[in-house]
Amino acid sequence: MSKNIVVAIDGYSSCGKSTLAKALAKELHFIYVDSGAMYRAVTLYFLRNHIDLTNTEQVTEALKNIHLNFHSRDYQTHITLNDEEVSDEIRLMPVSENVSPVSAIREVRKEMVAQQQRMGRIKDIVMDGRDIGTTVFPNAQLKLFMTADPKVRAERRFKELQPNNPDITLEDVFENLAHRDYSDTTRKESPLMRAEDAIILDNTNITPEQQLQFALEKVKPLLKK
Ligand code: C5P
Repeated sequence: MSKNIVVAIDGYSSCGKSTLAKALAKELHFIYVDSGAMYRAVTLYFLRNHIDLTNTEQVTEALKNIHLNFHSRDYQTHITLNDEEVSDEIRLMPVSENVSPVSAIREVRKEMVAQQQRMGRIKDIVMDGRDIGTTVFPNAQLKLFMTADPKVRAERRFKELQPNNPDITLEDVFENLAHRDYSDTTRKESPLMRAEDAIILDNTNITPEQQLQFALEKVKPLLKK
């Protein structure tokens, strides 16, 4: 029996990982898993329940009470936190501002990585995140590492967020991205970095369609095996 295929897409905040991952999964009929949504949902739970991030016991107890589920409709991420749909709330600023410290906690990562590995064991998947090619699936058949000019990333993200956050400024978004990139690349527990065998995709000047074609070219040889 042939082994299931895992495509790992890592990279900086807001550089189009999920846009590409969704499009690729749709084209290939693979399952799409947004690992960032899981860290965001944990962060939402911690915020709501005033969990002290420095208290390991509290964090471990809280993790036992968190049940996450993905429902994929039209390749959009729908995530539930203890049966409550939180897909929109996890994108708001309070979560974005707190997700990096939460995702730097060893106990949180251990639990999320275990859940992610279970998802990739049986099905063909495309998973995006920060440590998918390095830690979650070091043997993934295809690894992409995405990057783009920070200003371009902030502008793209600002356009997405502005309709639901009328008070937000481009500077707020730029600061948040810079801050998350810094925390994600410098943290002790599986920091964001390119796996040695990951292919770099800089999408500053290329369209989503061109990115999809690029990725499809790389996946095709794997499908024939
Ligand atoms: O992908 P997204 O920007 O939604 O991820 C939110 C945050 O979750 C990131 O800034 C990072 O701190 C954390 N994350 C992570 N490892 C992953 C995916 C996300 O640490 N695999």
